Amino acid sequence: MKEKVVGQRYSRQREEILRVVRETESHPTADWVYEQVRKTLPHVSLGTVYRNLNLLADEGLVQRVILDDGVVRFDGNTHHHHHFICTKTGKIYDVALPLDREVLAQFNAQTGFKATHIKIEFYGEKE
Ligand SMILES: [Zn+2]
Repeated sequence: MKEKVVGQRYSRQREEILRVVRETESHPTADWVYEQVRKTLPHVSLGTVYRNLNLLADEGLVQRVILDDGVVRFDGNTHHHHHFICTKTGKIYDVALPLDREVLAQFNAQTGFKATHIKIEFYGEKE
């Protein structure tokens, strides 16, 4: 019986963590997710949030995003997409452009590699 209660608590935490990541387009860090989850689950620990985010990423329910600054962020958008990073504000935007086929074909033709997918980070300023 006790195990069941513990299991329910864990899945509630996991659901809440997933909800928070899915409801934002900000590509948040674990610390940010922790601050949000604490609003509904005040007893959650930072370690629990880290662990669950990594599990969710391993299961493909969220994506890990690591950019030039080396900070690990999480993305609730699990569809294939690229990113635009505003160098002024640091804000990360999702970019869904059909670039892949052409870029892959050129890349494979010129290098002899057999790349199957790409992720592009565009840097610059948003008007
Ligand atoms: Zn994204």
